Formats: sequence, structure tokens, C-alpha cells
Amino acid sequence: MKYISVAIDGPAGAGKSTMAKLVASRLGYSYVDTGAIYRTIGLFLQICGISPKDVDGITRLIDDAAIQIEYDSAGAQHMILNGQDVTEDLRTEEMGSYASQISALKVVRDVLLDLQRDLAATRNVVMDGRDIGTVVLPKADVKIFLTASPEVRAQRRLLELREKGNKKATLEHVLEDIRQRDLRDTTRAVAPLKQAPDAVVLDTSSLSPEESAAAILAIVEKRLAI
Ligand code: C5P
Repeated sequence: MKYISVAIDGPAGAGKSTMAKLVASRLGYSYVDTGAIYRTIGLFLQICGISPKDVDGITRLIDDAAIQIEYDSAGAQHMILNGQDVTEDLRTEEMGSYASQISALKVVRDVLLDLQRDLAATRNVVMDGRDIGTVVLPKADVKIFLTASPEVRAQRRLLELREKGNKKATLEHVLEDIRQRDLRDTTRAVAPLKQAPDAVVLDTSSLSPEESAAAILAIVEKRLAI
């Protein structure tokens, strides 16, 4: 059976996960948050006391991380690390930065590549990440490159952090983090963040969440001819 895949790539804070969840729920597909997979590997290595710069240590230990992806009855993705649900521990700025550093390593990307492809080979997916349309699923049925200016992305991230009760985060700090992640994601040698030639670009800098949602659904429906 041929399964449908929708790839949504773009920089940190572009709204990929919100939009991907929306498209997945509209189409009845599984939403795959690949950032969470990188963060899970990051959490494992951090627990092992490994610095994100310690390539030898990472290479030695990476195969000890048993990662499973499960979906609950509401369709939400859960990350299981060595038998434990770690989903709630992943979405911190610290884990984002750690994941961004280790995701530049070939050994890390290679391990995760099969995991991501296996998921798409067994179900219809909306997958978000950095290299889904270019490397992971180059034959995806729909490819979208979702972006917004660094300032707008930082503002949105800050709001999200504040809503989660983080009172310490400042716009300056979040913007700096976004700039560093953009630089690392776009300049790494292995699978850098870049737009696939056949991706539709959607810049949401001046769009409200509702306008972004309408635009993305229109792209997907047109491409899938539904
Ligand atoms: O999307 P999220 O912020 O959760 O991703 C965390 C980090 O993992 C990103 O900054 C990026 O460096 C890395 N990543 C990646 N490729 C993906 C998904 C995430 O390199 N497909």
C-alpha cells in the first residue's frame, strides 16, 4: 500500500508543529514531530553526562538509546526512551539547544533517518523538521517550507514560553537562541536546513494563526487534489 506523506520543513519557531498538527488532524494522518526525536536522543546523551561536543562519546553511546514513538488515543505523539515516557521533558530551551548541536553530527542523523522513514512507510504522515522534503522523504507528496522572520519567530516562541509559565525568558535571549539555531541548522555539512526545489514556500511573518492555517490547508488540498 502506498501511504501519503506531507513534509513541512522550516527554521525554529516558524509554527511548523502547530500547522502540521492541524493538517494531520484535518486529513486524519499521523503527525510526526521529528524535532522531538532529536530532543529525545539529546536527553539520553545529557542524562549520560555527555557534552554535545563530545563526538566520540556520542558515537559510543548512541546505540544504547532505545527510542519508540507512540500515539495516544487523541493522536498525540509520545516519545519513549528506554521504556519511559519522556515527552514532557523535551520542550525546554536547553534541550532545543542540545538537540540543535548534536543534530549536526552524521552519526546522529544516520540513526534517526531509518526511524523516520519507517514511520512514513507504515502510515499516512504529516512530518515536520528541517530535512524532511530534502533527505528523509524526498518523494513526499506535498512539501512545504514554512518560514517567518527571526523577530516574529522569537516573539511567538516567547509567548509560548510565557504561557508555559516561564517568566525568566526575554525576547533578547530567545532571539539570540533562534539566530544561533538558524546558523547551525543552515550551515551544517550533513542535511542542512534548506528549501527543497519542489517545496511551496509559505512566509507567515505577517499572517495571523488563522490566515496561516487557511494558507497551508489550501496548499495541501491543491497538491493532493482533494
Ligand atoms: O524542531 P525542534 O526545535 O524541536 O528541533 C530541535 C533541533 O533539532 C533543531 O534546532 C534542529 O537543529 C534539530 N532538528 C534537525 N532535523 C529535524 C528536526 C530537528 O536537525 N528533522
